[in-house]
Amino acid sequence: MKYVVVSGGVISGIGKGVLASSTGLLFKTLGLRVTSIKIDPYMNIDAGTMSPLEHGECFVLNDGGEVDLDLGNYERYLNITLTRNHNITTGKIYSHVIQKERNGDYLGKTVQVVPHITNAIQDWIERVAKIPVDDTGLEPEVCIIELGGTVGDIESAPFVEALRQFQFRVGQDNFALIHVSLVPVIHGEQKTKPTQAAIKDLRSLGLTPDMIACRCQEELEVATIEKIGMFCHVGPEQVIAVHDVNSTYHVPLLLKEQRMMKYLTKKLNITTPAAEEDVA
Ligand code: ADP
Repeated sequence: MKYVVVSGGVISGIGKGVLASSTGLLFKTLGLRVTSIKIDPYMNIDAGTMSPLEHGECFVLNDGGEVDLDLGNYERYLNITLTRNHNITTGKIYSHVIQKERNGDYLGKTVQVVPHITNAIQDWIERVAKIPVDDTGLEPEVCIIELGGTVGDIESAPFVEALRQFQFRVGQDNFALIHVSLVPVIHGEQKTKPTQAAIKDLRSLGLTPDMIACRCQEELEVATIEKIGMFCHVGPEQVIAVHDVNSTYHVPLLLKEQRMMKYLTKKLNITTPAAEEDVA
């Protein structure tokens, strides 16, 4: 199983969900079975009790699970059917760990965020990623994991730490990280400082970006891409520009034009015939 994590920096709502679904779609075009998991770092068990004014409408899955709208994006982009367990929230993880503690499953140990919560997160991801989600009924080969919120928040800290450990649990060949950042345009100039700060935060928590996806109101200039590459210590081919488009269904094309899969298939050691054709 290959895991591709999509995290975000600078501000929330910059299009992580759209980018994660679009990346999943590109993996699907390589002939791979793709699933997805959405992590929402809030204490609610699910989105069912949240006001639509605050959070937008919740999306109802086939099994009745009331979840974040992003899961609807995944189902539509990837033509899959997800379950309530594909949406992980802080509330679900804590409730699971507290139930185990009440059952005496920890055999008298002190139950802590590290390792008990972080292990529960990793076990949950591994368990749910294996659930067949398309009509082949087979285990998926790629799992896109979207981490809601922004890296550096107190709320997402246990998930960030769990994912840091997870890259060693599954091996570097099976783990890639895409960090979504914002490039604001101030007085006509594309500013890279927020992205530099976001990547610094990410690295300080032990995560290294394989790709930096930059949301910008306009197309990124070559000089901006080179600057981000240099200051964020990645190659220019690892910087992907995602400018504002009329329809978010154009985002997969934007990613394809920039040969995003070329880097990711190499990093993840994916060798399907379609992947080799794509790299050629
Ligand atoms: P996040 O997951 O980071 O909260 P979403 O993926 O839900 O963000 O996107 C937030 C909003 O931005 C949505 O309304 C989405 O349609 C819009 N959006 C995302 N990417 C683009 C893009 N490239 N161009 C225009 N709108 C976009």
